[in-house]
Amino acid sequence: MKKCLNNKIFKIISDVADKNKLPTFVIGGYVRDCLIKRPSKDIDIVTEGSGIKLAEEVAREINPSIKVSVFKNFGTAMFKYDDLEIEFVGARKESYRKSSRKPIVENGTLEDDQKRRDFTINALAIGLNKSNYGQLVDPFDGLDDLKNKIIRTPLNPNTTFSDDPLRMFRAIRFAAQLNFNIEKETYTAIRKNKHRMDILSKERIMDEVNKILLSPKPSIGFKYLDDTGLLEEFFPELTRLKGVETKNGRKHKDNFLHTIEVVDNIRKRTDNLWLLWAGLLHDIAKPKTKRFSEDVGWTFHGHDRLGAKMIPSIFKRLKLPLNDKMKYIQKLIQLHLRPIVLSQDEVTDSAVRRLLFEAGDDIDDLMILCRADITSKNEYTLKKHLKNFMRVEQKLVEIEEKDAVRNFQPPISGEEIIKTFGIKPCKLVGDIKNAIKEAILNGEIKNNYQEAYGFMLKKGQELGLTPKDNK
Ligand code: ATP
Repeated sequence: MKKCLNNKIFKIISDVADKNKLPTFVIGGYVRDCLIKRPSKDIDIVTEGSGIKLAEEVAREINPSIKVSVFKNFGTAMFKYDDLEIEFVGARKESYRKSSRKPIVENGTLEDDQKRRDFTINALAIGLNKSNYGQLVDPFDGLDDLKNKIIRTPLNPNTTFSDDPLRMFRAIRFAAQLNFNIEKETYTAIRKNKHRMDILSKERIMDEVNKILLSPKPSIGFKYLDDTGLLEEFFPELTRLKGVETKNGRKHKDNFLHTIEVVDNIRKRTDNLWLLWAGLLHDIAKPKTKRFSEDVGWTFHGHDRLGAKMIPSIFKRLKLPLNDKMKYIQKLIQLHLRPIVLSQDEVTDSAVRRLLFEAGDDIDDLMILCRADITSKNEYTLKKHLKNFMRVEQKLVEIEEKDAVRNFQPPISGEEIIKTFGIKPCKLVGDIKNAIKEAILNGEIKNNYQEAYGFMLKKGQELGLTPKDNK
């Protein structure tokens, strides 16, 4: 285990701990991550005594000017060392009441402290005193679970989850982040205790959901959230996407499985959390818009528009930010069918120009979403759609180079229209401006001042205006 103690900070902590006769260990996520060679910047140190005192002594030893942040109420203290955050805490024993995830805390031993940890892989500790330097303390076989890629609670999982239901979400989040399986009894206990999530704040749940979305393969987490029944509790709109219906031999795809595949696809291309949310929500209105007709089979007409409309109430309920991030997601959902529709038709310049105009700077993200949305079990269909889609991508680049409409700025201002025709500010000014914009998007004129000026004169005359001579 000494390989986990390469950083010289551990030797310093060791010396200070020995000098103060404090049994001291590095514990939790840092040990877990070191053993599976996952980078980690947070080091948790637990000591059988005062964590605050130990932190202060260690900091003094390194450099008396280091700033130690002390959280008296929690009995913890931390400081930064190079790019690491080192947190010190006294070993503790915890007991819980039914109505709260806040435990009653007493001083305890390392063993007590390991028992209060959520999972066996998070309860691993390595000794830091001279007598046990580098020795693994692993009372719950966490090392085996780490090797076998298993998430398991150290104690009775029913008690563990009932005490602090956030652990149910943490179990699933770790499964997704590490690509681990949740052990059977632990899994069953999550199903059984799912209602305990009622005592959690939405913000805490969303922290975990965001971590699941940002994990390498988010679908692992969403499948677990669904199978355990947790998803139904806080996000029924997503579970309503589940299922395949067949009528007259025609079936549609399972939109839940499709959605989480889309999220996986997006994750391969970005770490933009809000783009991942857009992926998760892009088909959210499909159940509400689902229809069957003999001629065309299953349709979900308008799920783009309705989906965008559903977002504010979902965000409000889940305590997600009701700001420009939400508007960005609405915009992507609203536009998510457009590139696909384009790729099915002859790709005209004007349609591409309009798309660029409407998406603006979000066009690249929209294209990531839309490309991710092309899923099919049939290799041939998938290849064909991707090929068509690449034509749209190509065309977007060409049009953008030629016409620069991504961040469209009117080439002729309202002011200039007023001056040219010697009129007062009125509706006609807006009409002419709009006509210029439409002409550019339709490709009738180029996006430059000269052509727009000529067009303005023509349009003005059509509307019965005459340019003033002095222009
Ligand atoms: P990450 O930094 O990726 O979230 P981590 O394991 O370091 O992973 P933290 O939330 O920083 O997670 O927690 C540090 C340690 O504290 C965990 O490894 C675990 O031992 C313990 N822990 C955290 N939250 C809980 C909890 N709700 N119940 C029990 N133990 C917990």
